[in-house]
Amino acid sequence: MRLRLATEPASPNRPNEDFAGVTSNAVVVVDGAGTPAGLESGCSHGVAWYAHTLGSTLLTAVTQSTGPLAESLSQAIKTVASLHDFTCDLSHAGSPSATVAMLRRTEDGDVVEWLVLADSVVVLDTGPARPVVVCDDRVERIGARYRAQMDDLAGGSPEHAEAFRRYVETLREHRNREGGFWVAAADPLAAEHALTGSVPAGRLRAAALLSDGASRLVDLFGLATWRQVLDLLNGRGPEELIRRTREAERGDPDGSRWPRGKAHDDATAVFWSFS
Ligand SMILES: [Zn+2]
Repeated sequence: MRLRLATEPASPNRPNEDFAGVTSNAVVVVDGAGTPAGLESGCSHGVAWYAHTLGSTLLTAVTQSTGPLAESLSQAIKTVASLHDFTCDLSHAGSPSATVAMLRRTEDGDVVEWLVLADSVVVLDTGPARPVVVCDDRVERIGARYRAQMDDLAGGSPEHAEAFRRYVETLREHRNREGGFWVAAADPLAAEHALTGSVPAGRLRAAALLSDGASRLVDLFGLATWRQVLDLLNGRGPEELIRRTREAERGDPDGSRWPRGKAHDDATAVFWSFS
């Protein structure tokens, strides 16, 4: 078994709001939802603190418990909320939130379980067939209704930054609501809306967990297939996937080819090879 991991902030002078942690039997990737400059969050700790605290709490929870992954996530959301509900306004629409992707191999080694909440991606390589891609597209489907104006503006301009703020503010109204999308924030019930499943370990050659900043090469830029990403992760490693993502982003700094809220995003990739 081989585990490889790389994580990189969008910019060297900003905190990395992604978290990645591994044990010999579990992987957790958490992607904190950034608060654009000028928007309130109700929390004095910040998104990086939230994502890193949730990630480490969750990794501990899935290591100690053999119960369902969603139950561990619910417990971790509750624990992290209890660390700051007396100092911060967790009912604020902008209180820190995060996406979650995780895998765990059961103690007997027979089964690998997965969980995805919001727009992080789990890619399962089960052999020559097309990889199984687990991604919760509810954020994207809701976002598509509101992003036209932002996408028409040149990335990096003050007008684009303002449209991005408005876009994030509008999306918040759909957060953790029926008919909207679900993310880890203060409400443990969000865990019930995660996508979950399992696969016999014997059928799994490898798996990748990617924050949306590291899945862009496929799902935003269309420059690679999931199979090509698995081969790249296996051959050259997660750092090469991030390097190629940055190269593509630098080739389109104002988003004219690939309209996007953020020119660069925190990027995290974990590759778990079972063969
Ligand atoms: Zn706080």
